[in-house]
Amino acid sequence: LNRRLAEFGTTIFAEMSALAVTTGAINLGQGFPDTDGPEEVREAAVRALRDGRGNQYPPGPGVPELRAAVAAHQQRRYGLSFDPDTEVLVTAGATEAIAACLLALLEPGDEVVALEPYYDSYAACIAMAGGKRVPVTLRPYEGAFRLDLDELRDAVTDRTRLLLLNTPHNPTGTVLTREELAAIAELAVERDLLVVTDEVYEHLVFDDAEHVPIATFPGMRERTVTIGSAGKTFSFTGWKVGWITAAPALVTAVRSAKQYLTYVASGPFQYAVAEALALPETYFTAFRDDMRAKRDLLAAGLADAGFGVHRPAGTYFVTTDIRPLGFSDGFAFCRALPERAGVVAIPNAVFYDHREAGAPFVRFAFCKRTAVLEEAVRRLKTSA
Ligand code: PMP
Ligand code: GLN
Repeated sequence: LNRRLAEFGTTIFAEMSALAVTTGAINLGQGFPDTDGPEEVREAAVRALRDGRGNQYPPGPGVPELRAAVAAHQQRRYGLSFDPDTEVLVTAGATEAIAACLLALLEPGDEVVALEPYYDSYAACIAMAGGKRVPVTLRPYEGAFRLDLDELRDAVTDRTRLLLLNTPHNPTGTVLTREELAAIAELAVERDLLVVTDEVYEHLVFDDAEHVPIATFPGMRERTVTIGSAGKTFSFTGWKVGWITAAPALVTAVRSAKQYLTYVASGPFQYAVAEALALPETYFTAFRDDMRAKRDLLAAGLADAGFGVHRPAGTYFVTTDIRPLGFSDGFAFCRALPERAGVVAIPNAVFYDHREAGAPFVRFAFCKRTAVLEEAVRRLKTSA
């Protein structure tokens, strides 16, 4: 393994899911739903397979039906107009979109400012692209993990090429507010930065929180690449259908990298996701309401079991503080938890450069059936 990747080892998701299998523990670690997405979308995939749509290489930018559906979704939801032919690119999940963006847009030595804790592939892909990550830490404040805008401003240097954002944010559940996004947008314009924004949890926003794409702010449409994924919104994480929307020059750049990564992927599933994106609003509302109820169940259960709970405004993850239980090392806690309590969770420290800042935090996923969450809570209470 080369020096760029040596520090990354095995992703925590593989490690913890393997532990769930060997111990038989309930897996609230890796974020994938235990119920598949809508029947009619699965049927659409079967039809595509049967009718021979997408069984051979689809077009490099993605099938026209899906590109049109992505553009229509951005228009309907956010009032953002994208030309399906020049401003939408289908990728092998958001994961490939992240990789292709960083490989296409960074010069070796360029700095990338990212919100810490950050999704694990960001660090690895910045490294593969020869970039340097500059983390800005979200800090617990009044029950949520918040961004300090002054720290963000201070993190930008003459070497900064892009801001890598994620809202709703994995693992903290933070949803950046309109005011925060406006300030970030101003900074990007002032310092002439590109913004790559991972919005895969755009439909999982609860209570008063609102998802606002940063591409909607003045001066941002031309400098922003927005990433979406069908894995999260439609509960098909195995299909690996994602996309970017951006101005033509940025899409062309990202496509240059993407064509040598996978070239294309997920042919028949692209047609099915095109239909999924056109589902009536009731689908999206019901999905969100279901996850909100699950968040409430798990958050209350974890609090009862003695965890400090940071109630998420978005995503399907809840970050907890293990110090009230008398622990301080999330790694040790998560490695022991399957044996001790029969539950798997993820230590947030893996998402930090400042490991000590993340040490006492542990993430639980709630994209699971209610009975599974109830059983997990029962086990955690018993073992506490
Ligand atoms: N970004 C974030 C923040 C995620 O949580 C995930 C999935 N866990 C991804 C990207 C990857 O998405 P996909 O499965 O579409 O590759
Ligand atoms: N994004 C999911 C999570 O945060 C897992 C993705 C993966 O396994 N790479 O849990």
